[in-house]
Amino acid sequence: MLFVLYGQVSPFWAIRARPVRGDGALRMSTRPRGRRRPTERRSGRVLITGGAGFLGSHLCEYFLGRGYEVLCADNLLTGAIDNIAHVRSPRFRFINLDVTGYLDIDGPLDYILHFASPASPKDYLDLPIQTLKVGSIGTHRTLGLARAKGATFLLASTSEVYGDPLEHPQKETYWGNVNPVGPRGVYDEAKRFAEAMTVAYRKTHGLDTKIARIFNTYGPRMRLNDGRAIPAFISQALQNRPVTVFGDGQQTRSFCYIDDLVEGLYRLLMSRHHGPMNLGNPHELTLLDMARKIIALSGSRSRIVFRPLPVDDPKVRRPDTTLARNVLGWEPRVSLSVGLRRTVAYFRPRIRPAGRRRA
Ligand code: NAD
Repeated sequence: MLFVLYGQVSPFWAIRARPVRGDGALRMSTRPRGRRRPTERRSGRVLITGGAGFLGSHLCEYFLGRGYEVLCADNLLTGAIDNIAHVRSPRFRFINLDVTGYLDIDGPLDYILHFASPASPKDYLDLPIQTLKVGSIGTHRTLGLARAKGATFLLASTSEVYGDPLEHPQKETYWGNVNPVGPRGVYDEAKRFAEAMTVAYRKTHGLDTKIARIFNTYGPRMRLNDGRAIPAFISQALQNRPVTVFGDGQQTRSFCYIDDLVEGLYRLLMSRHHGPMNLGNPHELTLLDMARKIIALSGSRSRIVFRPLPVDDPKVRRPDTTLARNVLGWEPRVSLSVGLRRTVAYFRPRIRPAGRRRA
């Protein structure tokens, strides 16, 4: 099959950076405002692991839009070729590889963004060993590659390192409250290990590394069935089915729109700061409020039903983004209503209302 290019960089298809409307819009966004970033190069070669996933595919587009050559490495475990199929550029290559295996890339690399990992609770519960392996072995191998190439390395860490937090909102100085043998332990501990390994490479080998602690992010190209709240609510609402809220729905989350996150990641990569740095939207709301908002925005007739809370589900989650604001001059700009509208618009044509027959 066309896409199966094992473990080597091979031309995939050629793009002319073509702005696409709607979901696929190439984000040729404006330069970050504020001071010129000291390590910023105007062009370069970037490897994005997990590049066929939700966040990774948006990052691929963003870097292409800025003139970089982008290598997208992914084993399609939870990602999809569809996420990058619209990309047309001679500066883009897809590489089908598992970063926990032998890892070598021809040619120079200026930046490596390590995003490969199952990321939704459903995915990492289904794939516990792959999740632990990609966070540990995959991070080790990717750091080794960065060292060999002299590339700047950015780790996609997560707010999950804070576990079910006893400090609220969470600052980067908080060490977290994680149950290592609970169901979420495979993800949380893999990411905590990955952070420790990243710091060890910086201290031992002088590698330029960055750690981004990413909070819940949403937008087009999330998977409808990945078990996360927003796609689940949208899918149910667009089908006029009951919208399922866990517990009493009073647990809180903060949701960052994908475009804001990508901008923050770029600024962190180009900064002198090593992190860990929280990147997320500090606007907090209950999941019950989120469900109501999505029902209203979708014009749905759905009602809300309550189901038992999963084990170790965090009760609160909100980033303290003071560090990102002070160091990067970054804060989210896309309001929840705007972000949700764009996300609902992306999913609407992909979902058939319940009961409608195929023509
Ligand atoms: P995703 O599942 O859409 O993307 C992850 C990608 O990694 C997939 O394309 C998958 O096929 C690939 N992958 C998994 N194991 C691999 C391996 N061994 N080798 C190569 N590729 C592999 O998830 P996402 O939401 O885009 O998350 C991307 C990264 O960001 C993850 O590391 C995740 O932990 C982190 N993150 C995401 C969020 C969020 O809200 N989406 C929040 C915090 C952290």
